[in-house]
This record gives sequence, structure tokens and C-alpha cells, in this order.
Amino acid sequence: MLETCWLCNKSYNSKRELKNHMISAPHFRLVVICPWCYHEERTFKRVIDLKNHCKRHHSDYLNGVPEEFFSENNAFWLSLYPQDYKRLIRSTKWHDPLAIRARVIVLEWVRKITRYTRSKSEWLQGWEADESGPADQSHDEYI
Ligand SMILES: [Zn+2]
Ligand SMILES: [Zn+2]
Repeated sequence: MLETCWLCNKSYNSKRELKNHMISAPHFRLVVICPWCYHEERTFKRVIDLKNHCKRHHSDYLNGVPEEFFSENNAFWLSLYPQDYKRLIRSTKWHDPLAIRARVIVLEWVRKITRYTRSKSEWLQGWEADESGPADQSHDEYI
């Protein structure tokens, strides 16, 4: 079955090929932020690149952070385009400790960083793309 890109209408033979297309230029739709770079927003094309960056530059923050924090599923919570991310990769569930941890870290990052592309409310809105959240999402329930 053909998989069609919803941004440019190109077709691919598998979801995997479509995913590779979405990762790269011109879309870069699976981009994730580094939640520990506070000077300015740093993004990575895929979560494995973020993981390598964090191991090199943020080992002090990684104490107690399990490997699965950097899974493709959990990186949904660090995604700049959660609506698109969600279409290719299932997110960790809203109440999963790793998901909660990711949201806490991102919200702290949003508070500290001055140069960013998405505001706090855009992050909160983006996370609503995950359907496993509470039906009545008040802002207190994001973490
Ligand atoms: Zn496309
Ligand atoms: Zn960083």
C-alpha cells in the first residue's frame, strides 16, 4: 500500500520510507529540541542525534535519566511538530513516568530559554495531539 506525504503529496512504498522522507529536507518534521540547552533553541533531526548530543554535553543532567527517555516514542514530547510526529510514531502514554518527566523538563526549559520558536502555550497545545491524556485537560494537568 502506498503511503502519501500529507505535506507534498509524494508517495512511498512503505511507512518507513515515508518516515525517512519526513525526517529530512525540506520537511524536517521529526525535529526534537534539546531540553538542556538554555542559551538558544537547539534542534536535532532525530532523537538519536539528540541522545548523542546529550551524552557529550549534558552528562551532568543525565544522572538517573533512563535510556528509554530517548526512545522515538518518548521524543514525541520533545517534538517541534507533534501533530506530524504523531502520524508516524506512537507517543509514550500521557501518564507514563517518562512522558511526565519529559513534559516537566520541557516546561522548565521554556521558562529559562529566551530564544525559542514555540511558546509555552504552543507546547501545551501540541501535547494535546496525544489522545491518552485526561479528557478534561486543565493546565495543571500537563505535568
Ligand atoms: Zn513531503
Ligand atoms: Zn543540549
